[in-house]
Amino acid sequence: MSLPHIFSDDFRRAARAHADWIAEYLDCTRDYPVFPAVQPGDIKRLLPASAPERGEPLEKIFNDFKDIIFPGLTLWNHPRFFAYFATSTPPASILADFLSAAMNANVMLWRTSPAATELEQVTLSWLRQWLGLSENFFGILYDTASTGVMHALAAAREMLHPEYRTEGMRPGLTIYVSEQTHNSSEKAALLLGFGRNHIRRIPVDSEFRMQPALLQAAIEDDIAQGKTPCCIVASVGSTSTSAIEPVPAIADIAERHGIWLHVDAAYAGSAAVIPEYRHILDGVERAHSLILNPHKWLNVGFDCSVLYTRFPDILRRSVSLSADYLKTPEDDQVVNYMDYGLQLGRRFRSLKLWYVMRAYGREGMIDLLQKSIDQAQLLKRLIEADPSFEIAAPVPFSLVCFRHRQSNELNQRLLAEINASGKAFLSHTMLNGQFVIRCAFGNYLTTDHDVHDTWKLIQQTALHVQPH
Ligand code: PLP
Repeated sequence: MSLPHIFSDDFRRAARAHADWIAEYLDCTRDYPVFPAVQPGDIKRLLPASAPERGEPLEKIFNDFKDIIFPGLTLWNHPRFFAYFATSTPPASILADFLSAAMNANVMLWRTSPAATELEQVTLSWLRQWLGLSENFFGILYDTASTGVMHALAAAREMLHPEYRTEGMRPGLTIYVSEQTHNSSEKAALLLGFGRNHIRRIPVDSEFRMQPALLQAAIEDDIAQGKTPCCIVASVGSTSTSAIEPVPAIADIAERHGIWLHVDAAYAGSAAVIPEYRHILDGVERAHSLILNPHKWLNVGFDCSVLYTRFPDILRRSVSLSADYLKTPEDDQVVNYMDYGLQLGRRFRSLKLWYVMRAYGREGMIDLLQKSIDQAQLLKRLIEADPSFEIAAPVPFSLVCFRHRQSNELNQRLLAEINASGKAFLSHTMLNGQFVIRCAFGNYLTTDHDVHDTWKLIQQTALHVQPH
């Protein structure tokens, strides 16, 4: 029988080698292609079909990571990763995850990780203060905003129909999103059994924001048909264009009809840390819940998503079940986070939030956020100066939506070529039937030089993808 045991000296040696490699990688990330030159199946072909019978040395596994896995990764922590919403995993966040792995902490009950439970409370209170939100908001960390919105919808249902917990859900409860709301809200509604026919997509205006008058009309129409409006999802920083929907006007409607208001600020909420941008959360005090992803734009590594709610008791009722084996003597005095979500076992995510908030401080974080906003404005000016291109949506934050003035096909080919070059990685969306390229800033390593170089790459690529 062979039971490989990793002794602390082996661990030290391997940890140093890993740390040295990571440090070197962070120093010269730009030297690597942001998008790998691989085809589907390429990586699988290089890996054995079955796991080894006998344990292998860490060095060998690490070498295979460097030789096989790393070259097949899209580098999300690359300064020229501009796709979706650009993210960062700065050293402070990496180190915290390293420690968290070593502790293997499971933050289900206070008792299973007292410090991790209390650090979650403290860091979410710090973040609440940075955002200028009141103490009425209780916070909990989930993996992603998709999980968070599912819990918000479950709480919204619980608020209106607590008896569904026992009897099961009946059709008719309706969810309101805009045409531009991230589809995680619809997915959550599907999963919870609201039914597709009970998800209303409210049209947006010319700046891609939900139109409150049409929301009001849809709600009245539904009430007249015997449906029950249950939850409105408003976005502060929608996915395609980062549009800011009119939360105060939407909150008026929600209050008038007694509907749960959920605000999805997964990406752009972080900007509210900058005092001049605090206004983007105006009206959020009246929302029932709010989501913000530190793993999107707050320079915390994936995954880390916060749900704030003014109604933790309702959230708790919607998902908690007690079990004899999980009861503890201190239940009345503590927060047991497992009571506020589907998961029993929970990762120690607050550690990286704590590391990052302390490593940068509020001022350092404001500088980082402002840098991304300035870089978006820089790219916007460069695009506006080139008559072949046009800006496709307002640029309130760090996302620029633009297109070549020619066909959708040309824009598609342009994006494919830029990404295949490995020199920058961008994504796309469709706006009013037009294929639009999205360039999102948010990586702590991105410089103005990267912006200029990427713009040159886009212009030059456009020249040769154009039909002759
Ligand atoms: N909400 C918005 C506005 C988003 O842009 C996204 C993802 O990009 C999500 C929600 C879903 O985020 P997650 O991947 O954390 O579920």
